[in-house]
Amino acid sequence: MTAVVNRASGTVPASPAAALVCRNCGANYPLGPQHACFECFGPLEIGYDAARLASVTRAGIEAGPNSIWRYSGLLPAGQDPSTRVDSGTGMTPLIRADELGARLGFTAPLWVKDDSANPTHSFKDRVVSVAITAARELGFTRIACASTGNLANSVAAHAARIGMDSIVFIPSDLESAKVTQTAVYGGTLVAVEGSYDDVNRLCSELSETDEFERTAFVNVNVRPYYAEGSKTLGFEVAEQLGWRLPQQVVAPMASGSLLTKVNKAFKEMVSIGLVEASDYRVYGAQSAGCSPIATAFVNGTDTVVPVKPTGIAKSLNIGNPADGPYALDAVRSTGGAMAFVDDEQIRAGIQLLAETTGVFAETAGGVTTAVLQKLVESGQLDTSRETVIYNTGDGLKTIDAVSDRVSPTAVIPPTVKGMRAAGLL
Ligand SMILES: *Cc1c(COP(=O)(O)O)cnc(C)c1O
Ligand SMILES: [Zn+2]
Repeated sequence: MTAVVNRASGTVPASPAAALVCRNCGANYPLGPQHACFECFGPLEIGYDAARLASVTRAGIEAGPNSIWRYSGLLPAGQDPSTRVDSGTGMTPLIRADELGARLGFTAPLWVKDDSANPTHSFKDRVVSVAITAARELGFTRIACASTGNLANSVAAHAARIGMDSIVFIPSDLESAKVTQTAVYGGTLVAVEGSYDDVNRLCSELSETDEFERTAFVNVNVRPYYAEGSKTLGFEVAEQLGWRLPQQVVAPMASGSLLTKVNKAFKEMVSIGLVEASDYRVYGAQSAGCSPIATAFVNGTDTVVPVKPTGIAKSLNIGNPADGPYALDAVRSTGGAMAFVDDEQIRAGIQLLAETTGVFAETAGGVTTAVLQKLVESGQLDTSRETVIYNTGDGLKTIDAVSDRVSPTAVIPPTVKGMRAAGLL
């Protein structure tokens, strides 16, 4: 791609994206709204021009905006600030979790990357910002998605912000907070009587119809662009640690894309010299109600067997995970591990994280915290190595998960005597 002229400020840097590359057979295709290989039907991802990536520097990033767009030189869209959808996504807090670390026996620092601080309170704002920016650059007029909940929130909100039409598809049994937090933005919201995997299949079919020709499904036809947004979770952690990689990271998995892209981000940063190479390990977390990737890991196979999801971690309930094999490869090749935890452990994980760090996570964060604990207890995760866990969503989105486990310490009349009667004085 050649440099484009920005009316306001002259030329802007060319995109570092060079091609769409099949992750299965390596075939190359021109950039555009395509997600599957014509040769082998494998998934496509963005391939970059190595020289353009190598021109990115720490100083250049640090001089950029306080959002994911500071990494635009490493992303496939948004080089021209006038096309960027910038909702302030990214640069979320990296919190020292000393009390949690102490409870779990850590001797090295433990951190929580808290993505509940994004505009719609989940990590999905990262992938949506990049996907919707790419969709505008590619000339689409409507934005759509198949969602397990958080993606619906984010797509509807970003579409409202830039005045684009949206059509969002969700399973009809989603948490009510996530339904309301999508519908409130005023786009079209379609509740489908089926699982996420049914919703996703429907969206794949719709994306082939004439009526949807000018509609970008963020996680279907522009998925290669969407997926790159997750790299910013890796970039930010390294920058926030003072330009070095953590020794271990624990990430939740639905399709497995987030985890795969954090690993891709670390590798890119090493290859262009932004951080030193290190022997970091990537760990993956799922719930027992939907653990196709972690089960393959535990069984020592490469075959991810689809499941019918159950359980409270609905944002992670993808029974047929598109990036499962790549997540397995990222974890195995770095010497990490995967595990899954049941609903009771997820609820306890939410409480443990809240009590020890002040971060109230949705069920996905409960999964990650409980899996951290499980991996420590089984000796698979090393407490003498600096570790980052990713909290990817806000507890207010899934409040039912813990609302019957916690309550006021006491209910009293508004008197000192009342305090005394309750044993609080
Ligand atoms: C979507 C989502 C993830 C991870 O999704 P991937 O499909 O694996 O990229 C993790 N946490 C939350 C809260 C999510 O909504
Ligand atoms: Zn292929």
